[in-house]
Amino acid sequence: MLEYDVVVVGGGPAGCMAAKYAAEGGASTLIIEEDTTIGEPVQCAGLISKRAIEESEISSKSFINCELKGAVIHSQSHDLRIEAPSQDKRAFAIRRNIFDKELAKAALSKGAETILNSKVKSVKKRGDETKLTIMAATANAQARVKGKNEIRANAVIGADGVRSVVAKMAGLNVTKNFLNCVQIEGEYEIDEVFAEIFVGKTIAPGFFAWVVPIGENTARIGLCIDKRFSPLPNPLLFLKRNLSEHPIIAKKYKGTQSKFTAGTIPIPVGGQKTVKVDGGVGVLLVGDAAAQVKPITGGGVYYGMKCGKIAGEIAAKASLEGDMKVMKDYEKRWRKEIGKEIAFGLKAHRLRCIISDNDLDTIWHAVSKYDLMQLIRTRGDMDYPSLVLRELLNLKNPSIIKLIARNIIRYLYAKRR
Ligand SMILES: Cc1cc2nc3c(=O)[nH]c(=O)nc-3n(C[C@H](O)[C@H](O)[C@H](O)COP(=O)(O)OP(=O)(O)OC[C@H]3O[C@@H](n4cnc5c(N)ncnc54)[C@H](O)[C@@H]3O)c2cc1C
Repeated sequence: MLEYDVVVVGGGPAGCMAAKYAAEGGASTLIIEEDTTIGEPVQCAGLISKRAIEESEISSKSFINCELKGAVIHSQSHDLRIEAPSQDKRAFAIRRNIFDKELAKAALSKGAETILNSKVKSVKKRGDETKLTIMAATANAQARVKGKNEIRANAVIGADGVRSVVAKMAGLNVTKNFLNCVQIEGEYEIDEVFAEIFVGKTIAPGFFAWVVPIGENTARIGLCIDKRFSPLPNPLLFLKRNLSEHPIIAKKYKGTQSKFTAGTIPIPVGGQKTVKVDGGVGVLLVGDAAAQVKPITGGGVYYGMKCGKIAGEIAAKASLEGDMKVMKDYEKRWRKEIGKEIAFGLKAHRLRCIISDNDLDTIWHAVSKYDLMQLIRTRGDMDYPSLVLRELLNLKNPSIIKLIARNIIRYLYAKRR
């Protein structure tokens, strides 16, 4: 049987970063990943900020598809064009498979180890044992013989994504609602390297559809829906309709499809618990497993890495000092970084789900009359979208005030869902 100070379940961005920081903190660290290759299959549009790239600490830029100059948000009858005001505020389209592999490489360079092709089935403290036992089903017979299917550790970091087994085993419920997403890669007419966002109940109820350019004439075209607010439960039906009927998407899409992906994004329950300490052992959740995502945009790569660093550092410290109470700091620390953003994002997401397309249009019209570029220059930040939204809510525009008041009543009613 193998023994480690820290075992990280899941080799995505959150897990690899947690493992890197745990190993750097001096802990013997193992990543267990169920897939045969880190970074595959990809379930991501790959849109991240310059800040996220810096957070990754990867020096090679081989994972970058292209740099985006801004975004256009299309509502029912209005296009809002937002140019990135400076290099610093630009976003990047990235190849997640290469990005994740680079993150794993960095963790290994600090001394972490990996077992691939191994699916963790349970994480338990047996009787009065002083370690957690992690049981994994490995397809690799040799690994089974070497005892790699039963591993012991003081601390386990659950970085196993949206359907986290570790969270379930620890009894930590971080989410009960999800966004359901689909995406293809295909040929698309790219006039300028801008991401396109499409909002509307018939396009992507409860969320938005996107086109992210990844080359001269190729793009990722996808969407998420929030099923609670959608007349149809399957996001693919909306994607097919957008590709064939949407006045902009259908015109620019050239009908080819090189990749298809379907995935899920967690919507956090407010104040989710992400730590469990039981005597001399402890469990931390990070990334999608902890629902550390931006509810407004669904982005989770930046938050996952950011919280992964904190998780790895704390798990190593707790494990090496033999004091699991240290792990309780984790929640305080990650919440200080992104807690307010998630809390605001949850409210904004709910409002978006219930607001009518006409009301949304009125908002866009009002907003476009305001000096939006000035606001974006000072407050715009794709990792902290609440900064701009809070400012927009402060606009003393009578039509927006009336509209918000009407929707707050709808919001309070919808809160019961
Ligand atoms: C369609 C779509 C588009 C998205 N676009 C963006 C975007 O543009 N920008 C952005 O920032 N975010 C985006 N996201 C969200 C982003 O992909 C996630 O937030 C991010 O991948 C979370 O990282 P993670 O490390 O927490 O989890 P993951 O990347 O999901 O990694 C979890 C890992 O755990 C492994 N695993 C799971 N269960 C087990 C088990 N039992 N045993 C062993 N291993 C296990 C999995 O195989 C996986 O490798 C998108 C999501 C979807 C679905």
